[in-house]
This record gives sequence, C-alpha cells and structure tokens, in this order.
Amino acid sequence: AKLRAGESTCYYENEHDESMMKDLRIANELTAALRREEIDVHLQPKVELSTGKIMSFEALARWNSPELGTIAPDVFIPVAEKNGKIRMLEQSLLKRVLSWLKTRQDKGLELSQVAINVSTDHFFHHSFIPYLVDQTAEYGIEPKWIQLEITERIGFVDIETAYKVFKQLLNYGFASSIDDFGTGYSSLSYLQKLPVTEIKIDRSFINNMHEQQTLAIVRTIIQLAENLGMRVVAEGVETEEQKRMLLALGCRIGQGYFYYRPMSLDEANLL
Ligand code: C2E
Ligand code: CA
Ligand code: CA
Ligand code: CA
Repeated sequence: AKLRAGESTCYYENEHDESMMKDLRIANELTAALRREEIDVHLQPKVELSTGKIMSFEALARWNSPELGTIAPDVFIPVAEKNGKIRMLEQSLLKRVLSWLKTRQDKGLELSQVAINVSTDHFFHHSFIPYLVDQTAEYGIEPKWIQLEITERIGFVDIETAYKVFKQLLNYGFASSIDDFGTGYSSLSYLQKLPVTEIKIDRSFINNMHEQQTLAIVRTIIQLAENLGMRVVAEGVETEEQKRMLLALGCRIGQGYFYYRPMSLDEANLL
C-alpha cells in the first residue's frame, strides 16, 4: 500500500493489500469489541430428525459492530485466530453460555447441553481444560451441560496430544464433538483412536447427497460413528428430502434451517 504525500486517500497496490487493510481494521475493532463485551452468542438447536425435538444447542458467535456493521463469523473468527484473540473470544462465549444456564438453573427451568466451538490453538493451549473446569465450578454448572466442538478441517496434526485433551474432557464429564467431519485430511480410521462422543457431518456433504459418491460417503460416516458408539449429527439440513434420506441412512440427529435458524438467548428461552 502507498500513501501519497499531501493526499488523504490511500491507494492500494492490489486486492491483497486491500483485504489486508480490512483484516487489520477488523482486528483493531475486534480487540475493542472484546473489551466492551460486544460479541454476542446465538444458539441453534440440534434436533431429533424424526420428531424435530430439541436435543441440545450449538453456540455461535455474533458480532454487530457499531463501526463496521454486522460481520459474519466466517470473517472475524479467522482474524481472531490470526491475531491471538480467539481464546479470549471463546472464553467470553463460554461465560455467556454458563451464565444463561445458571439463570435457567436458578429459576428451576430445564437445562440443555450447549456446544461451544473451540479453535485449534485454544484446544491445544495449556489453559483450556483448567479454564473450563474452573468456570463451570464457578457458575455451579455440571460439566455434562457443556460440549466442545473441534473442527476436523485442519486435521489433527498432533494426534497424541489431541487424544490426551479429549480424554481429559471425558474424565471431567464434558461432552465433545468433531465438527465439519469429512473436510479434513485425516483418514476415517484415526477417529477410533479419539475418545469423542459425537461427530458432525459437514454441510457440504448433506448438500450434495443427490450425488451417488457423496451419498456413499455420508453412509460410511454414519456407519462408522455407529460402530464406534458415537452420536452423529448432520449439519445444514435444509429440506424435507435431506431429512428423509438421512433417516433412511440411520442418522437420528440433525441441525439446519429446515428446523431452526440460530437464535438469540431470549428467543431460546421462549422455546
Ligand atoms: P460451524 O461451526 O460449522 O457452524 C455452522 C454454521 O452453519 C453456522 O454459521 C450456522 O448458522 C450455519 N448453518 C446452520 N444450519 C444451516 C443450514 O441449514 N444452511 C446453511 N447454509 N447454513 C447453516 P455461522 O454462525 O455463520 O458460523 C460460521 C462458522 O464460524 C462456524 O461454522 C464456525 O466454524 C465459526 N464459528 C462461529 N462461532 C465460533 C466460535 O465461537 N469459535 C470458533 N472457533 N468458530 C466459530
Ligand atoms: Ca460448529
Ligand atoms: Ca460445523
Ligand atoms: Ca461446516
């Protein structure tokens, strides 16, 4: 990027520079937003496909910046990951979820399990488990109400360490989930080594089940999960047809616009 002397306009060499400037702007605003606790949490139900009954929820980060407007998580999460803010962001989401659960618990209302997305850096950070244990105790919420979703997209580089972290989650009573399953580079067989309680089939597969090849992949993942005694969740269920196909394949739980869109905590309280 170059700034011409005497002019207030910025000229960018190319689109790459421009997108870098945009990321920088987002990074700056994000830091302020975290300090001001502007990052919100929305919940999307995971439902029993056959009945639509809510089984649990997934927490999704939402950011409505006074400066930049509404920014999608697909945009600000990667920025937070790059500039080291992701742990702080996810810890603040956890606290919001715990506080929501505590309010319900204090009122004698029914609790539901809530899944928090955890980025790889956060998952492998030494503070991850101690923070979870400390915060759930602080809010008086049993660990079984909290699930941790870890994306498979990057593949588990360090399978030994991943194993240890999942094992600790299990020992403390937290639920876990492998998100976006099928998009990573790892083989299906590595899954049997991990003590996880759930896998989520990535939306891209659910979207393309009309293709024979994709259908075969979905079938394989469902069978594998069943053999390993894991819960399997289909992501991005948008149509009746997809629901029907998934049920025929033996998948019992799904998530998607066909059932519910992500909603605010207030909306979730009305369910
Ligand atoms: P994800 O974890 O795979 O979450 C599912 C995304 O799919 C959500 O998008 C959700 O709103 C969307 N979705 C749900 N059902 C449907 C459907 O039927 N059709 C379509 N087209 N989309 C559906 P969202 O909220 O925009 O989040 C996008 C991604 O941002 C998430 O994908 C996740 O990877 C990331 N993300 C969000 N919050 C966090 C967070 O706190 N930490 C981390 N590490 N990542 C997060
Ligand atoms: Ca997720
Ligand atoms: Ca996912
Ligand atoms: Ca996905």
